[in-house]
Amino acid sequence: MNPEAMGEFDLIERYFKRPERAAACADLVKLGIGDDCALLQPRANTQLAISSDMLVQGRHFFADVDPAALGHKALAVNLSDLAACGAQPIAFTLALALPHVNEPWLAAFSHGLFALADAHGCELIGGDTTRGPLNICITIFGEVLVIDSQSQALLRSGAQVGDDIYVSGSLGEARLALEVMRGNLSVSDGDFATLRQRLERPTPRVALGLALRGIATSAIDVSDGLLGDLGHILERSNVGASLDLEAFYPMKLVADYAINAGARAQIDHKNVKIHDPSLSNTLIGYILAGGDDYELAFTAPAAARAAVQAASIKATTPVTRIGRIEPTAGLRLVDTNGALVENRWVSFDHFA
Ligand code: ADP
Ligand code: MG
Repeated sequence: MNPEAMGEFDLIERYFKRPERAAACADLVKLGIGDDCALLQPRANTQLAISSDMLVQGRHFFADVDPAALGHKALAVNLSDLAACGAQPIAFTLALALPHVNEPWLAAFSHGLFALADAHGCELIGGDTTRGPLNICITIFGEVLVIDSQSQALLRSGAQVGDDIYVSGSLGEARLALEVMRGNLSVSDGDFATLRQRLERPTPRVALGLALRGIATSAIDVSDGLLGDLGHILERSNVGASLDLEAFYPMKLVADYAINAGARAQIDHKNVKIHDPSLSNTLIGYILAGGDDYELAFTAPAAARAAVQAASIKATTPVTRIGRIEPTAGLRLVDTNGALVENRWVSFDHFA
């Protein structure tokens, strides 16, 4: 078929509507693509968790990005919001603006999208398709349990003074990949391949979010950068925090990548110290405020350290304890000797 002859409904039928299958959430999705509305039937003693995220060309991704990776990422950033809430994914809708019908592009995009959807038992139940500058908006629906009238959702507002602060996985790699693409830093081709995966195919921490129900007192996913996103927890919980910079040094970014910043940084792998202080500050900045990490930052009582470790093992997702919640408002950075470090890093803000 001449691609431009393909209409809106053929396009939906061919790339987004799939045969009826026994999905993990089959009992919740009563009606999928094809009518004016989709129908979800929440189970007794559950709440629906709902979140939307939009990806705009030029702002969130480059025009030439691999469409399969884009399909993955568009869903991954939404799954990450469910993860932060401790919600089990059920279904999602897809609103898509396309400049023109490009069948190989659509085939790869939908392949990347459905591969991740199937990995999480999450069904595409509807959407909208229109012509326009490339723009992808997904709304996702998840299930949160209610036990004894208490929602088990993890919220930003529950952090308590004395709680430990944790972050999953590692931070800063997506930002480092972006800076390499922008030509500001260079790494080996092998390292770039790894870093690029972190930017273009983030792993939403859904299993960890589920495992932390009843353990974490608050949680957020790190999309704009740790300092900014953790700041939202502090604000909503009416508390402050200190972070131990030392906790971040073992992270891969500082330890494992041979990074060339023109001035040839020397990296001492054993001591995980970088001898070029300007590069070191840059990398710490990527860790603390780089953005696009899609890790979970969360708090839990000090008495729950063993439970947090058990949740981490259950979810096969590493977590690092990075600081503690304090009564004094604000976010403080503390060095190895307990001295305050000036915070000159800011997280991403689309309108700042
Ligand atoms: P309406 O005009 O009533 O909004 P549409 O004609 O736009 O419905 O869409 C027809 C059906 O296809 C609807 O069920 C809608 O949810 C679904 N749909 C449209 N675009 C997409 C898409 N990109 N992915 C999945 N489903 C879609
Ligand atoms: Mg419509």
